Amino acid sequence: MNVWHTLQREEVVSILDSSTKGLSFEEARERLQKFGLNEIEEKKRKSAFAMFLDQFKDFMIIVLIIAAMISSLIGEPVDTFAIIVIVILNAIMGFIQEYRAEKAMEALKKMAAPNAVVVREGKHLNITASEIVPGDVVVIEAGNIVPADLRLIEVNQLRIDESALTGESVPVDKTVETFSDRYLPVGDRRNMAYKGTFVTYGRGLGIAVETGMQTEFGKIASLIQAEDEAKTPLQKRLANFGQKLAIGVLVICAVIFVIGLMRGEKLITMLLTSISLAVAAIPEALPAVVTITLAIGAKNMVKQNALIRKLPAVETLGSVTYICSDKTGTLTLNSMTVEEVYIDRKVIPVDGLNGETPLLKLMLKAMAISNDARKAVDGSFIGDPTEVALYKVAFEKGFEKEKLIEEFRRVAEIPFDSERKLMTTFHKCENGKTLSITKGAVDVLLTRTAVELTSEGVKTIDKDMVVRANEKMASHGLRVLAIAIREWERIPDEISPDVAEHNLTFIGLVGMMDPPREEAREAVNICKSAGIIPVMITGDHPLTAKTIARRLNIIEDDLKEIITGRELDKLSIEEFEERVEQIRVYARAAPEQKLKIVKALQDRGQYVAMTGDGINDAPALKRADIGVAMGITGTDVSKEASDMILLDDNFATIVRAVKEGRKIYDNIRKFIKFIVTSNSAEILTLFLAPFLGLPIPLLPVHILWINLVTDSLPALALAVEPE
Ligand code: ADP
Ligand code: MG
Repeated sequence: MNVWHTLQREEVVSILDSSTKGLSFEEARERLQKFGLNEIEEKKRKSAFAMFLDQFKDFMIIVLIIAAMISSLIGEPVDTFAIIVIVILNAIMGFIQEYRAEKAMEALKKMAAPNAVVVREGKHLNITASEIVPGDVVVIEAGNIVPADLRLIEVNQLRIDESALTGESVPVDKTVETFSDRYLPVGDRRNMAYKGTFVTYGRGLGIAVETGMQTEFGKIASLIQAEDEAKTPLQKRLANFGQKLAIGVLVICAVIFVIGLMRGEKLITMLLTSISLAVAAIPEALPAVVTITLAIGAKNMVKQNALIRKLPAVETLGSVTYICSDKTGTLTLNSMTVEEVYIDRKVIPVDGLNGETPLLKLMLKAMAISNDARKAVDGSFIGDPTEVALYKVAFEKGFEKEKLIEEFRRVAEIPFDSERKLMTTFHKCENGKTLSITKGAVDVLLTRTAVELTSEGVKTIDKDMVVRANEKMASHGLRVLAIAIREWERIPDEISPDVAEHNLTFIGLVGMMDPPREEAREAVNICKSAGIIPVMITGDHPLTAKTIARRLNIIEDDLKEIITGRELDKLSIEEFEERVEQIRVYARAAPEQKLKIVKALQDRGQYVAMTGDGINDAPALKRADIGVAMGITGTDVSKEASDMILLDDNFATIVRAVKEGRKIYDNIRKFIKFIVTSNSAEILTLFLAPFLGLPIPLLPVHILWINLVTDSLPALALAVEPE
């Protein structure tokens, strides 16, 4: 039993011969050799040879080989030889395809493998999670799936959902304390973070103590691996159809066999003929061919930036009727620039911001420090694009975070979440007081504000004026944030939205532009012409959403097409389902509402693709027919819940994938039809001949040869038809 939770942080660090700066690169490499990859072993993969042998497992093939051997004993060695060569050729073709499909899937899996941030030689590195070794210092934050078993050494409001491991659905508050009870159940070891569980809130730092199969998750992995790969609807139908077909073919072959005997043919000849026909005509490989086609299709989709995580998705993609997409980042570029500012009851374009009034200074300061964006050594800005836009303006006007941070040390924070649509930070000022800065959605923030700061001092806030300014900016497509402050004699005991985000003093608004993606507009039009309805979901103001939606051609000008999150909440399920097919834009929506949208559309018989990037999006992604996660900005949790990952976060990629999915589905149907018709022709050729008084028209070798050449090759050609 592991006792890591009973050890002091320092002990763990020294036992694992690590440090808070992490391992050295050299040491990490050696440990990877010693401990192996940090991976949960999967079921044993079939070796290539086993895969080849599998091609002969089919019952009819075995019968055929036996019959061929018997015939050679009676004295027709040439025939036997030819038959065996053909059977082997057939197996080779089957094998090559299956092998290629397997490799394609493996490559896709590798691409979808999660990353993790570790500290080595004092530097933060992004590595694949499988390269983590014991002793590594691992950084985790909200949205991550914990990559290894960690003894936590630093926590910042860290909360972890351990339901995957313990079944407990309430997230656990983590700590760095030491526990003395060796036998503490895993769920109570609050100074540990376990592989496979996920971070719902906050940040933390931990030392990897166990990796791979040694982790708690690894130990129970054999229990949860039972789940087989899901069959697609088409595969299920085919398996069923194939069985019935096989029975029919066998009956016909039996008839041919009996008639032949009655006409005085040799027993061995008729045996070989009828068995060859059965082998040729039973499309036993069809389900496999479908899998192969899907896998190869998935491989091609990667080239277009759509990474398929679950094979059936390739098929389902073709049936999508609604694509519900996030606005910010997917339909837009997610590169924002501040264009206008509202301050001192005036709207000013950002270029016109001169004159260093104390009010403007305060606002720029607030924009710089209540902000997690930072400037990297190479001069670029890193962080959430909204915050980067704010910090850039402040930075250009000379408000550098590094300098301000000494004067305004951040002592607490309530992170942004798209439910509340606000973020607050607390700063210790030099005069001993505490300053809190709250920024966020204008309508939300106004309800927490009674006064505003103007050049003439504090006044009762003129909310109408603020609302008008907000609406004007939003109707130009700008994303608007309000900024407010509050002064505290001392920092409040409880740092919660209820306490901190009230009685604020309003300072101003910032409006930023996030241009729509060029390709998105075209993709929207393709959707419409293909009978697929694009829907935009955003946390932004309805006017911002409407303007962008109109630029993208998602809406014409119908008021019925837009709804806000709040209106949606008021509708009953029935009322919502009445309207859901008309709605094209959801504004001020919260991630939780996506699930409601998916369900309602599905109840109306629609097939829904839904995008998402955050933790709260996961249920909707799981429920959607195609859950789409963001490759660049998406959290581990959302990727894990998805069927497909957009490597470029781009709406147009979804549309391309749908197009590809339709093509693949079409082609599969084409070659199924082809195989069934050409096989029927083979059967009829042999079956009808005796009735017309003809001799047996084909020798067994001919039957097999014709089957090999005229079946597989044209079918393959059909499988790669362009759309
Ligand atoms: P979207 O779905 O468009 O990404 P979000 O939920 O991210 O929308 O944002 C909704 C609103 O929350 C924005 O209009 C903005 O006013 C506010 N907001 C967004 N990001 C931040 C942030 N980092 N800090 C404070 N407020 C924010
Ligand atoms: Mg957002």
